[in-house]
Amino acid sequence: MTVAWRDAPPLAPQDLSSDRSETLDPEDWKALRTQGHRMLDDMFDHVAGVRARPVWQPIPPETRARFRGALPQAPTDLGDVYREFADHIAPYTTGNIHPGFMGWVHGGGNAVGMLAEMLAAGLNANCGGRDHVPIEVERQIVQWTRQMFGFPDTASGLFVTGTSMANLMAVLVARATRLGPSVRQHGLSDCGARLTAYTSVATHGCIAQAMDLAGFGTDALRRIPVDHCHRIDVAVLRAQIAADRVAGFEPFLVVGSAGTVDIGAIDDLAALHDVCRDEDIWLHVDGAYGALGILSAEIAPRLAGIESADSIGFDFHKWGQVPYDAGFLLVRDGEQHRATFAASAAYLRRETRGLAAGSPWPCDYGPDLSRGFRALKTWFTLKTYGTDKLGAVISRTCELARYMEAKVAAEPRLELLAPVQLNIVCFRYRAEDADAVNADIVAALHESGIAAPSTTTLDGRIAIRAAIVNHRTDRRDIDALLSAVLEFGACETAARIER
Ligand SMILES: *Cc1c(COP(=O)(O)O)cnc(C)c1O
Repeated sequence: MTVAWRDAPPLAPQDLSSDRSETLDPEDWKALRTQGHRMLDDMFDHVAGVRARPVWQPIPPETRARFRGALPQAPTDLGDVYREFADHIAPYTTGNIHPGFMGWVHGGGNAVGMLAEMLAAGLNANCGGRDHVPIEVERQIVQWTRQMFGFPDTASGLFVTGTSMANLMAVLVARATRLGPSVRQHGLSDCGARLTAYTSVATHGCIAQAMDLAGFGTDALRRIPVDHCHRIDVAVLRAQIAADRVAGFEPFLVVGSAGTVDIGAIDDLAALHDVCRDEDIWLHVDGAYGALGILSAEIAPRLAGIESADSIGFDFHKWGQVPYDAGFLLVRDGEQHRATFAASAAYLRRETRGLAAGSPWPCDYGPDLSRGFRALKTWFTLKTYGTDKLGAVISRTCELARYMEAKVAAEPRLELLAPVQLNIVCFRYRAEDADAVNADIVAALHESGIAAPSTTTLDGRIAIRAAIVNHRTDRRDIDALLSAVLEFGACETAARIER
């Protein structure tokens, strides 16, 4: 007979109270319940009223100093600890739930995902392995991602912290596939030292880091130039692979970008697939934020070819709006994926019945053994909103980027620095000493609390970079950012003339 969670008969009070002194459970659940409901209500208010507050505010020195305290040996009342959270933590976050946040590429999160995080923490599931439904939830998402990207049923997938980790793991799978699983015992040795990987100069820095961590060193990564739209130059890629072969190297990996971090460029993934098929090279796609564009009818065609990649790394916590963190790795050949990470240990013995059944386990597909229930907030988000709605949110961020692009183009004091391809707009205020002026404008914007774009460098010039990722952002936020740029730009320029 199975017992539903809410129907379990309460234990008799005497059973509960055999020794109250050493448990962390409260003596008075009623008080905790009241406190908990208050926290939940406050957080709903915090999220619902986010637009009325500054995007970000500088941390007062007293607040910072509070977090240099001594290790608490004695207990503190939960109400007091919560007050400290409300007064000194919640007001000083990055601000990425705010519609005016357009810095870097940060997701906005969502209230349903927040509730799911609470439920997941209550279950306190360890999703490394064993036979329980939280793992089935993760497998469900693996199945959904196969469907999204047109991968076969034999593909494997795993939640990880973020795409930096997913990319590192993909490099390791490509490494073990090329050198055979014995590389796990013997290390890279001589043949490994000749392996080379390829990506564009616009690719995220975590790919070079992955080459470092995987033992190849960053020199083994060839950085291929990009065209005017920041897409990898496929002809140069082919030529570099050919030259490396002549020189005795062994090309084993190409990393394509589905949404570069600087301007959101998508490589020609179908062309990369052709190169990799001809050359027998693993194709990994860094789709950290862009791959979920597959949910948008407008963007999906531009990702053509992604369905033939050997692996894809992406984040549900960026365009997918799932609360942090929810990175994901999808690998076409699940067996190669497993062979890269699986290890046997007596204390992880598998059975065919009981709690130790259900092998293979998620821990067979990555370096983590203990793992949280990231799948739950993702499952709730996907089910509650549906992929049509999430895709529409993604499309709208791109539409807002085009709106912003048009406004920048129409304003003589501003200059567009890169073509808008997805949801990222790079521009700047025209001025003498424009690099310094624009860096100052961005810092002043942050401090004003009006908006939070970031900066990047394009062709040696500092750009104001607005990445529109948040589902809460609308035209008002774009207008507010642009008028603040004009205002602060005029101030910065005037201040320089005075000096
Ligand atoms: C954000 C990002 C990454 C890194 O992903 P994390 O989730 O932050 O680890 C890698 N590549 C691109 C293109 C990104 O936008």
